[in-house]
Amino acid sequence: MKIHLDTIGCRLNQAEIEQMARQFRAEGHTLVSQAAEADLVVVNTCAVTSEAAADSRQKIRQAARAGAGEIIVTGCWSSLQPQQAAELPRVRRVIPNERKDHLVAEVLGLPAEHFDLEPLAREALPGLRQRTRAFIKVQDGCDNACTFCITTVARGAGRSRPIAEVLADVRAALTGGTQEVVLTGVHLGSWGQDFGQSLSVLVRAILNEMDIPRLRLSSLEPWDLNEDFFSLWENPRLLPHLHLPLQSGSASVLKRMLRKTTPASFRQLVQAARAAIPAVAITTDVIAGFPGETEEEFRETLDFVREIGFAGGHVFTYSSRPGTPAARMKNHVSGEVKRTRSAQLRTLFAELSETYRKQFVGDTLSVLWETTSELDEWGWQMEGLTGNYIRVSAHAPSPRWNVVDRVKITALSPDGLRGEIVAS
Ligand code: SF4
Repeated sequence: MKIHLDTIGCRLNQAEIEQMARQFRAEGHTLVSQAAEADLVVVNTCAVTSEAAADSRQKIRQAARAGAGEIIVTGCWSSLQPQQAAELPRVRRVIPNERKDHLVAEVLGLPAEHFDLEPLAREALPGLRQRTRAFIKVQDGCDNACTFCITTVARGAGRSRPIAEVLADVRAALTGGTQEVVLTGVHLGSWGQDFGQSLSVLVRAILNEMDIPRLRLSSLEPWDLNEDFFSLWENPRLLPHLHLPLQSGSASVLKRMLRKTTPASFRQLVQAARAAIPAVAITTDVIAGFPGETEEEFRETLDFVREIGFAGGHVFTYSSRPGTPAARMKNHVSGEVKRTRSAQLRTLFAELSETYRKQFVGDTLSVLWETTSELDEWGWQMEGLTGNYIRVSAHAPSPRWNVVDRVKITALSPDGLRGEIVAS
């Protein structure tokens, strides 16, 4: 069969379709880049905001209009709204999150454990979902109950993948020529808690047993990290980038969010990280317009974000998700005020990001090239990421996709840096 895999949302969704790709290929099926060419389309949906849920429905309708044979829908939105998903055009089956890891076996009528074999070498997915970096799922679900969060509802209780399975996926990525592995989960920092281990154990095992050139950790909740966690970065293959969702800089808002952090404990964690990891990039997520957020509380968030001096951040305009405690709270903030606050935060993060990037002009950094944008009179325009998660562009005489080069940084660019390749 010709199979097209698509996803909306987080890195975990991306990691899951990469796993499905390997399993379909292991059974002799072909991955195609367009739904129009496909006998079967799988769409991994998202529900983190109402926009993401709408994008998920639109993706399914687009695949049907493009003439896809049959559509399998899975992921957070369809797990919350299975009836609605089943009624969309050409949808043959809706598979909830708790059965997603065995989706391919179920679709092909194979026993659930069929794929617990040594996986095939990783190959980048064809089309828009092509990634040089391998996203590897190590954990799913979450045992916390942040009041705005629908993910914990859609993905269920926290559960970790055994080390052996994760190492097998890293090996498959290495065999496929991957230079960088990104560990991902719903609540990555809780990996191992369900069998008395901690994320440090997993990271050490990967660094000790696998010669992966670059290992990156995706989002980490700021309350999971014990004291010796930052000693992991003594190994230079662990990339100096921490994404620590703050969500709000106001202690009273964090309380209403049921977040297990405070501005004081967050500040302390950042200081410990910066003491242990030179030039570490600390990025974050902040929600603008959480129910009841006063002008004063928003001011506290702006001041705290500026004080911490993040290297960058995502701003989420609060989106009321049915089924979450926050949706039932009083004093929801008006759309206009939410938009104004989101814009102010985005402006602040743009300033802070520029300040962070500016310090690297004149330095030489390692860059993993991910995309080739165009060929002009200076050669191929390459774009890629540094270890501390800065987007860098440079020219090369030939495409250098999936290669790590040393790059002399010459200037700031609108959302990154520009440089010249000096060595590979
Ligand atoms: S830690 Fe909070 S925000 Fe993160 S997945 Fe769990 S409940 Fe959601």
